[in-house]
Amino acid sequence: MPLVRVIAALLLLAGLVACSSHAPGTLLHQADSGRLTIGIRFDQPGLAEHTLDGRFTGFDVDVAEYVAGALGVPPSGITWRETTSSTRETDLTSGTVDLVVATYSITDARKEVISFAGPYFETGQDLLVRRSDNTITGPETLNGRRLCSVAGSTPAQEVKARFAQAVELVEYPRYPDCVTALLAGQVDAITTDGVILAGYVTQNPELLKVVGKPFSTERYGIGLRKNDPDGQRALNDAIQRMISSGSWLDSLRTNLGPSGYPLPVPPAVTER
Ligand code: GLU
Repeated sequence: MPLVRVIAALLLLAGLVACSSHAPGTLLHQADSGRLTIGIRFDQPGLAEHTLDGRFTGFDVDVAEYVAGALGVPPSGITWRETTSSTRETDLTSGTVDLVVATYSITDARKEVISFAGPYFETGQDLLVRRSDNTITGPETLNGRRLCSVAGSTPAQEVKARFAQAVELVEYPRYPDCVTALLAGQVDAITTDGVILAGYVTQNPELLKVVGKPFSTERYGIGLRKNDPDGQRALNDAIQRMISSGSWLDSLRTNLGPSGYPLPVPPAVTER
């Protein structure tokens, strides 16, 4: 047999051995194919944005590319799919995506349905208001005001239950819808994570401001399907390496620097 055929046969065999070492349906088995489909946001400046010229930029994009690379999948092997606050769990369980990297807070309720690796970032829920408004100084000052949030996100109900029973809640599918409503005077405040709100201030610094009093702790995890401990471990290792190599901080400086959002210390990776 010519040498070139022997080498080709050996490479094929090596590929088969590599593929068969991970059970079908697992994250690592999928990564062995050199392709991953990742759920990401398209409309969160600094975190994950689909630019007009068709690129994806932001900290969540960098985290996704880093962990995919650690699993052997190059950026050209990633298919990006838009995911929203209310579709993240079903995007995973239906098999539409292999991973979700989308400002996704680790919660016990979500862990009933999917698994998380991480956390890879910590932030807290805050309020975005019009720059001219000095009456809203925290969640307890929202009685009688209209508060916008996104369906499926860390609940605005939390604000109602804990701080302002007479707040009027308005829900939209995406954050930019809330920002448009705030600028138009249809709502008085938006609630979500401070790091997300900071990105919208960067787009409209003369018109918007963050109140700056976080009232929850949000720990961002990478979502994957349940019962995949090897996949979870590989993602945790990759996050750890992104932090210790300095890539984590480089990405945060590049992507959050323009908003002035204070960079937190890296979290301990604790999901098991
Ligand atoms: N981190 C929060 C959550 O996972 C709010 C941000 C979002 O809607 O993505 O629900």
